[in-house]
Amino acid sequence: MDAYMGIDVGSVSTNIALIDDDNKVIETLYIRTKGRPIEAIQNALQTVGKKIDPSIVVKGVGTTGSARTLSQAIVGADVAKTEITAHAVAASHYHPNVRTILEIGGQDSKVIIMEDGVVTDFAMNTVCAAGTGSFLDHQAARLELKIEDFGDIALQAKARLNIAGRCTVFAESDMIHKQQTGHSKAEILRGLCDALVRNFINNICKGKRLDPPIIFQGGVAANKGIKVAFEDALGCEVEIPKHYNVMGAIGAAILAREHMEQQGGKTEFRGFEVTNFDYETKSFECEDCSNMCEVIKVLMNGELIARWGGRCGKWEITG
Ligand code: SF4
Repeated sequence: MDAYMGIDVGSVSTNIALIDDDNKVIETLYIRTKGRPIEAIQNALQTVGKKIDPSIVVKGVGTTGSARTLSQAIVGADVAKTEITAHAVAASHYHPNVRTILEIGGQDSKVIIMEDGVVTDFAMNTVCAAGTGSFLDHQAARLELKIEDFGDIALQAKARLNIAGRCTVFAESDMIHKQQTGHSKAEILRGLCDALVRNFINNICKGKRLDPPIIFQGGVAANKGIKVAFEDALGCEVEIPKHYNVMGAIGAAILAREHMEQQGGKTEFRGFEVTNFDYETKSFECEDCSNMCEVIKVLMNGELIARWGGRCGKWEITG
């Protein structure tokens, strides 16, 4: 069977999706990047390579995420696209009429506005933790709770609390105050869900119309409390796709299939054996003009396979 693979490498997770000719998902994988993207890519590929039927032939590979250029170099991907494109492609595949995509991951979040299947506007937050999954992880740890239980407990709240959520420091001191005044854990968690959603809508979505149909994806979509908080704030249903936590990888796989169908030819994919190679990244500062660009290079078994980062493109070797 022919298949196309999407790889989404971010600072928190490394995800893989394998799809067939009809964009049907064959296999998915979600693992933690743990600050070591090369190792994460190799581990993820090794796991997927062992799991899938040996008759599956990978005909094209796409990468996305903040480490998309690095992962393209390592696996020999045919195409590398931004997270905005990959998430929009995946969401509109499952919901062709989607108007608004809300995506909240571990350390970044984004909103994408669509019209007739085309991205018309977007915004991302990669700086402030208060609108991302790490905000919830941090507060769950403070309350000695498993993050998996966060949403279910939040929905047991009998009253609504207003928690200042515009940054983790304010939220923490407000939470302590609310605990001291006798509010239940459920009420505090529900308040935190509302705070994250308020922060997301007021900052990331500022000035944008969030029209339905609305799709909510990314790891935080597993938290039922956040889904309900979005529905309350926006006054409409918020849909969560089945593969909510690997939508970027699915989008990259769809883009790889489209790319290979348009370009023809053979994939550049090095095969699942990339796990056996030694990779090393190095960087240097180009001193050929006042821009002083940081140039990154990737070596495979000591041999240069990719280089990027210069503004003028003079060092560029990719793919
Ligand atoms: S890579 Fe190009 S733009 Fe950057 S410092 Fe060197 S010469 Fe200048």
